Amino acid sequence: MKIAVIGAGAMGSLFGGYLAMGGHDVSLIDVNTDHVSAINQDGLRIEKNFTVEVARPRAGRGNDFSDPQDFLIIFTKGPHTNDALASVLHLAGEQTFVLTAQNGLGNAETIARHLPMDRIAIGTTSYAANLVGPGHVTFQPGGSLRIWSANGRPAEAVDRLAEAIAATGLDCKADPEVEAAIWEKVAFNAAINSLTAVLRCPVGGLAAHPAGRTLAELIVKEVADVASARGVGIDLARVHGLLELSFTHHREHKPSMLCDVLAGRETEIENINGAVVAEARRLGLEARATETLALLVRLSEQGRKA
Ligand code: NAD
Repeated sequence: MKIAVIGAGAMGSLFGGYLAMGGHDVSLIDVNTDHVSAINQDGLRIEKNFTVEVARPRAGRGNDFSDPQDFLIIFTKGPHTNDALASVLHLAGEQTFVLTAQNGLGNAETIARHLPMDRIAIGTTSYAANLVGPGHVTFQPGGSLRIWSANGRPAEAVDRLAEAIAATGLDCKADPEVEAAIWEKVAFNAAINSLTAVLRCPVGGLAAHPAGRTLAELIVKEVADVASARGVGIDLARVHGLLELSFTHHREHKPSMLCDVLAGRETEIENINGAVVAEARRLGLEARATETLALLVRLSEQGRKA
């Protein structure tokens, strides 16, 4: 299959690299010229448990490619989705299906500004990956990717993509319950990512005092209430389990929003806390703690420009 991955950072390189090793015709599209050059010169190094495999997809900017693709997989950070997709619309034919497994809410709606909703798939992944240098990604095994069509109906293209990814050895399934899984991850991220970003400390800083846990649980509850009002039932016990795992075993972890704030980059706050607050308003609800965190992260982002 012809597959273009748009945003070939940590996650895009992981999934694109595995699909290339699985024999698919993969193009990695990114604006990071050092990363693109390294992939084209030496291949893409994918490291797992200190074992390195080398994938050989093509890499470039959108206008370096011209063939219509079977699938576009979007893995930019949320704020860059619209511009990135706009730069590759010439690769979308009548049958092209688009997958977003980015974190947060509203990614399918952003894509639907350009392409029909019935050719969009949404997803969520528990894989964790890092781009450690140009052409070099590391990841922890043991994750999964769940995908389903954005309109909620079964789609042959979604099954085909899930099977292709699973055949590479990564865990991937088509799952009609994916919206609940997306909201569960949003609940976790709305708490952990924004709190660590505002406090500028790794997860252990939250676990160090009961106040961290109290705040995290408050935000998770607000997000669960918004999801429930929208008709999406999230499994609170599962989200609390993730919080516990994080507080106990991932104390050194710096969530991406913290890394973005520390590096002076734009964060995904609008896709996470901001999107929850917007959805709460639409449904006539309040999500005060989630909104306070969104405001604080926006101020932190503004601080980088002052
Ligand atoms: P990343 O920053 O490593 O990669 C994003 C890439 O997008 C970068 O290489 C950047 O150069 C590229 N990009 C930016 N603008 C672009 C444009 N206009 N055209 C083409 N490329 C462009 O981010 P990531 O960690 O891979 O995360 C991607 C998404 O996956 C995010 O929504 C993130 O929250 C989610 N996610 C990440 C992880 C993880 O472990 N890294 C896990 C689960 C979900």
